[in-house]
Amino acid sequence: MAILVTGGAGFIGSHTCVSLLETGHEVVCVDNLSNSSRTALDRVQAITGKTVKFYECDILDKPMLSKVMRENAIDAVIHFAGLKAVGESVALPLKYYHNNITGTLCLLEVMGEFGVKKIVFSSSATVYGKAETVPLTEDMPTSAYSPYGQTKLMIEQILKDLYVSDNEWSVSLLRYFNPIGAHQSGLIGEDPRDIPNNLMPYITKVAAGKLAQLSVFGSDYPTPDGTCIRDYIHVADLAEGHLKALDKVRRERGVFIHNLGTGTGYSVLDVIKAFETANDIKINYRLADRRPGDVTICYADPAKAKKELDWEAKRDIVQMCRDAWNWQKNNPDGYGD
Ligand code: NAD
Ligand code: UDP
Repeated sequence: MAILVTGGAGFIGSHTCVSLLETGHEVVCVDNLSNSSRTALDRVQAITGKTVKFYECDILDKPMLSKVMRENAIDAVIHFAGLKAVGESVALPLKYYHNNITGTLCLLEVMGEFGVKKIVFSSSATVYGKAETVPLTEDMPTSAYSPYGQTKLMIEQILKDLYVSDNEWSVSLLRYFNPIGAHQSGLIGEDPRDIPNNLMPYITKVAAGKLAQLSVFGSDYPTPDGTCIRDYIHVADLAEGHLKALDKVRRERGVFIHNLGTGTGYSVLDVIKAFETANDIKINYRLADRRPGDVTICYADPAKAKKELDWEAKRDIVQMCRDAWNWQKNNPDGYGD
């Protein structure tokens, strides 16, 4: 039996494909390559010495998804496919609702038709909205401040409703904190198409001389150094979390919600310092205005994942910074396409 990975050519998907193959799973991947490259999967195969069966397929394309299901014995689905740029989602909400929500509905309908009822879904810490207290636990109230965040909340709800309607479903909702880093081989990593929105890829582009200066968004927040605090997690740890979640949905029926974070918060200035120390490179930065919509502090309570999934993050911020730079250094133009 194989695992179907939607969005498997993307940043988190490609690292999860490596972990799946390394633990003996057969992997079938569908991706429309709207934000990724086929090369990522060639690299996954180079790292593991194993084959990924790839379909260039949009999850909105139900006939094609049915063909994938017919041609492969799929046991469970890990669903990464989606658009993820918060700012773009504000400007183009319909694009986000259509791709993420309608796409997920198409996927779930086809899964149901083929009796495949185990799914691990990429949710996000963004569903905690502007939470007042940290660390964030899974039972805290949820809310959304962007169409992107709404799509995560809505898909969580759709999956919960689906389970209520049919208890044969088994659903894992993984709320990721801030994934950074890259595979230690330097062969796969994050490859943003345009100027990065996220902190770490911006830092690596400044380190590489491709961008002149990092703007630190806000230095007057009520934190020790005035900059926002986040829970950065190594993408390889995140990938391993998916294997544990997969074990859970294969063993038990129900809806399982877990934070995937380290439980430790770092400020923007902490991350810059960690990167400089880990790689012996100076980062040119300036203190700039706040970015609208940013929450001050966000970090996970990862205890539930430890208890119920037997998972915890192992890699520290230094390794995250080293691996992110190793990827950028070895691939100055990302996958090059
Ligand atoms: P990514 O853009 O690298 O990967 C997403 C993949 O999905 C891409 O390869 C893209 O081509 C594909 N895709 C998008 N729409 C598709 C469609 N309609 N049909 C088929 N393929 C489609 O992003 P990522 O960082 O790997 O994120 C993976 C998932 O995790 C996303 O759902 C994202 O929202 C979620 N997530 C990411 C973060 C983060 O900071 N990276 C944080 C929380 C949650
Ligand atoms: N950030 C920054 N400069 C950048 C990009 C991000 O100062 O060019 C800050 C951002 O304001 C936030 C933190 O870095 O406080 C993490 O931002 P990112 O976009 O990576 O993740 P988010 O937590 O917003 O999803």
